[in-house]
Amino acid sequence: MSQLVDPFGRKVEYLRLSVTDKCDFRCFYCIPKGFKDFTESESRLTLDEFVRVVRIFSTMGVDKVRITGGEPLVRPDIIEMVSGFSSLPAIKDLSMSTNASQLAGCAHELKMAGISRINVSLDSLRPDRFREITQGNLERVIEGLLAAREADIHPIKINMVVMRDRNLDEVGDIVDFCIEHGFTLRFIETMPVGAAGQRARDSYVSLDEVREKLAQRFEFEPCRMRGAGPAKYLRVKGERLKIGFITPMSQHFCDSCNRVRLSCEGTLYLCLGQQDKLELRPLLRQGMSDEEISQAIVAAIQRKPQKHEFNTSPDQVVRVMSMTGG
Ligand code: SAM
Ligand code: SF4
Repeated sequence: MSQLVDPFGRKVEYLRLSVTDKCDFRCFYCIPKGFKDFTESESRLTLDEFVRVVRIFSTMGVDKVRITGGEPLVRPDIIEMVSGFSSLPAIKDLSMSTNASQLAGCAHELKMAGISRINVSLDSLRPDRFREITQGNLERVIEGLLAAREADIHPIKINMVVMRDRNLDEVGDIVDFCIEHGFTLRFIETMPVGAAGQRARDSYVSLDEVREKLAQRFEFEPCRMRGAGPAKYLRVKGERLKIGFITPMSQHFCDSCNRVRLSCEGTLYLCLGQQDKLELRPLLRQGMSDEEISQAIVAAIQRKPQKHEFNTSPDQVVRVMSMTGG
């Protein structure tokens, strides 16, 4: 039973953890070019601190946790962390968002440690373009995806941030790719989070336009998806492929928001698109009891903003996306 209900009657049942702000990629909409201001290791929460916070949340009705970043797989203790979270009895759904560049080497271990499903960023199927967008290596990502499928991680959801000048012409190809490999697909609109996200505003495409473009090649029917969150899903007729459309800009879904985000430094952000927060790290390191920390969290939830203001105040969120994990 959730004890975390905000002033708008929304239950908070979902915690997203940016376990590191570091990343082996540099997606142009996420981490600004030349960015060096990553957190120091002493200021990042330790494995034990993360597990403690998740345990405290799990006693207050949070049963769904996503590990994200930055790139979670660059954290050396990531497998122990997954085991720590999955051993908490109240956590029913433990997932990870990853760029998959290092997934080939650890997919099986992740599955054994308790990851049931993953989301993988994939913005292009063309190696040169992929490198231009992310500075990463497409081949390693594909190897990672195939290793995850081999390890029986299911579902594997592909996240594609659609950008007018960079990959809008590939939306059909990515549908074909997901049909071929049995992945789920989600399209995402670019959000003005941090300097990089704000610079990417010129590339913004409404997903209505993507749907219209795809309708020229594919026939869709409505479908339901368990745990769909903010994504609205359609199925490609005659195929198993489900496609989710995540539209924070063109059609926000704040009314049903059920989540808060913990940064790698232990800052609890109450909304992706606002600055409202609670600094948990000092509380953890000052020797506060679980009960006292729970009370601080309950009080913070009373300050959860009603909605983001990406459209009206796009310059508002200055923190880099990898701090809060998307
Ligand atoms: N490194 C992992 C990955 O790329 O999946 C996890 C962290 S990443 C910040 C999580 C998600 O946020 C990715 O799907 C990424 O494409 C998305 N993202 C990052 N910056 C964004 C932005 N400005 N607008 C929309 N989505 C963004
Ligand atoms: Fe790294 Fe993910 Fe951000 Fe890309 S979107 S830079 S992979 S954290």
